[in-house]
Amino acid sequence: MYDYFSKRRNDLRFLLKKSTPFNLFHGKKHYFCAMISAFATQLESWYETFGRDLPWRRTRDPYLIMLSEFILQQTQICQGTDYYLRFAERFPTAESLAEASEEEVMLLWQGLGYYSRARHLHAAAKLVSEAGFFPQDYGFARALPGVGDYTAAAIMSFAFGEPYAVLDGNVQRVLARHFGIGEPVDTGQGKKLLRALADEMLDRQHPALYNQAIMDFGALQCKPTSPDCVTCPLADTCQALREHTVDKLPVKAKRTAVRDRYFTYIYTRSADGQTLLCRRGSCDIWQGLFEFPLIESEKPLDMAEVKREVRKFVFDADLESLSLIARDVRHQLTHQRLHTDFYCLTLPHAASKNGQWIKESDLDRYAFPRLLEKLLSLLGAEGNLCG
Ligand code: SF4
Repeated sequence: MYDYFSKRRNDLRFLLKKSTPFNLFHGKKHYFCAMISAFATQLESWYETFGRDLPWRRTRDPYLIMLSEFILQQTQICQGTDYYLRFAERFPTAESLAEASEEEVMLLWQGLGYYSRARHLHAAAKLVSEAGFFPQDYGFARALPGVGDYTAAAIMSFAFGEPYAVLDGNVQRVLARHFGIGEPVDTGQGKKLLRALADEMLDRQHPALYNQAIMDFGALQCKPTSPDCVTCPLADTCQALREHTVDKLPVKAKRTAVRDRYFTYIYTRSADGQTLLCRRGSCDIWQGLFEFPLIESEKPLDMAEVKREVRKFVFDADLESLSLIARDVRHQLTHQRLHTDFYCLTLPHAASKNGQWIKESDLDRYAFPRLLEKLLSLLGAEGNLCG
């Protein structure tokens, strides 16, 4: 651990010499050291009053903390809390989760999105279960599937009180603004600087308290838009406030490219109340989840084009019943924007060239991506819009 932190400190010293954000301190080392201590104290004191009381903060069980961190990656706390409580009740230990089937885990995860998290969580629980306990070892946590620097630091500090600083988007924003970091946070140099700064600012006596405090401070006070600088306890020392750059920081170098994809889903049902499902493959979004027969195209399809594609998966069928339920249902993923047309088709018999037929009344036993849940809700109870 000594080597880890001494290396970070060297990084910080090196970067501070090259960067200008710390001109507030005019090179006065003693002033900077006092600043570190005051920064942590003010955040912790703010947290005592305004910090959020969250269920996973009432435990020091590393497995439950890991569970909460997986659920909260890319998920709002208000949505993630219910999932955390359901998972913690159904799988209170790593062993219980390790023994569950993938189908059961995916079904419980349904609606949260980013399903690779569920698969990684399941795999991580199996490794913890095989180890027999969750060791107090950063290297072990960091090597678990789906666990990056942030999650490993969260588990180590919250469960074991180990001095590892978390660095998520909230923490980046607080540090970048308070210390006036103009370096883009998504470049190698910017990441290195913020990592070194995060480690330097950490309250090593109370790492869990400090980490929770700075994350909540970023989420509630130093928010992405309209931060509450008027009541901010750090306002006197905030470089961004002093230099009128609050709305410019943190800086990002790259804009994420978003790809448009065009889907046509066919809810295919038989006259005796069965429906056709397919399972997603492993090289795309929603791996392992279920969906209706899908046609993907470069652009939206008209009815004639849809019929031509449908004939590829049904036997000689009268496609007169094919009807449009909804056009251009939008669904946003991190790097993709999905445009979906949704059709319904009723066949006389449950027969097709691929997929599996299930009773429509059993649909809730299958894990679907959120977009498909949205489409099902458009369809109404048991496909009653399908005529
Ligand atoms: S003064 Fe404003 S920008 Fe600076 S730390 Fe406080 S809330 Fe963030």
